[in-house]
Amino acid sequence: MSDHNSIILNQNRHKSIPSDCIICAMRPGLYLNQINIYQARFFCSHSSPPSKPHFQPSKTAKVLTILCSCILLYGVYADLNQISGKFTSKHVILYLEMFLNILTVLFNGTFFSKNGIKLREAHGLIAVINNKFKFGVDVLLTGKSAKKIHDILFYATIMFLLEELIMFNITFAVENVDNDLFIRMFMLEILILSNAVLGIACVQALHLYKAIFGRCYSEIEEFLSRLYLSGVEDQTPGSLLIERLQKLQRLYMCLRRNYKLNEQFFQPVVFVGYSLYVCILLIGYGYFGMTFFLGEISMLKFDIYLIIKSLAIAIAFGYLCYEAQYIATMSEELLSFLFKFPISKLTVLECAQIDMLISTLSLQKPDIKASDIFTLGTGLLVSIAGTVLTYVLVALQFHASWSAK
Ligand SMILES: [Zn+2]
Repeated sequence: MSDHNSIILNQNRHKSIPSDCIICAMRPGLYLNQINIYQARFFCSHSSPPSKPHFQPSKTAKVLTILCSCILLYGVYADLNQISGKFTSKHVILYLEMFLNILTVLFNGTFFSKNGIKLREAHGLIAVINNKFKFGVDVLLTGKSAKKIHDILFYATIMFLLEELIMFNITFAVENVDNDLFIRMFMLEILILSNAVLGIACVQALHLYKAIFGRCYSEIEEFLSRLYLSGVEDQTPGSLLIERLQKLQRLYMCLRRNYKLNEQFFQPVVFVGYSLYVCILLIGYGYFGMTFFLGEISMLKFDIYLIIKSLAIAIAFGYLCYEAQYIATMSEELLSFLFKFPISKLTVLECAQIDMLISTLSLQKPDIKASDIFTLGTGLLVSIAGTVLTYVLVALQFHASWSAK
């Protein structure tokens, strides 16, 4: 009997993540994120000791965030000391590094001052899930979606930590690590950690909302399809349709309002800073790629590794834009379903309710805007690509005229 029980326990441990527990779903990412994003410890009914799901602001995490920023500032100081003599390509890398350092300190400052917003967002989501029955929904985050989010975060975190460890050791093996390079490496680790944490937090939030918005849309669609199949007049009193759709619409609005708190949390420093950084990085990368290809510069292997790593930042940024765009437009499938829904059998009031739902879904989209300057999405990538191409060409022309002299 006990054998049987332990098998079941084992299976449970490996197989499933409890549905509707966002803490359990986000757990692998939260271990890193508690440093500068949440600056809080996290609890849920599945942790020991069990407690209601919540985040508790932590002084240790706040101190660690400040410590990270201090190390980064010291890195800027150390880089400044290295810059001397004639301007070389190496200086460009150092300037880029300093720029990213200062930007990351700014991000950390933003997260520090806006920490309350992120916690409000997390608690808001927990409250929506706790009140799911009031919205007429049985489950908001299914065990399957929770496991998917958990696995993505788990593998992302493990791969990130492994890669850092391996690269740190390889650098020791191939480069002659002196005191200066060691300080620089340590500072870069903190820098990369801060940025990875930010990336993981975005992946975490986007996947979570993607799953929950998706669930909300499919609830609406399932309900209306069932209604349509069973025949509207026979079985469903009108008030039921109106009531149920109103509840689901309310759920959608709550989710959207909560999702928009992320916008407040990240804007404008993080959005504008990152877009700018990705632009500058890609321009620098294009320029370096060309000159390196022409054999005109020599770099440390460590620097080449850094450049490749920076490209990963650009790719991650592209991926996040794609996901944000996906969330903003994922209601379109439901909208086309609603437009096609046969309303001839419905009463005027019921039609009005469906109409209202259509307007809500199409006017109040869950999009992430940076102070109304631009919307995070694939459109942004196109403008960045245009800018980068222009400036790489400009840089190469300058380069050609410099080398001609
Ligand atoms: Zn849990």
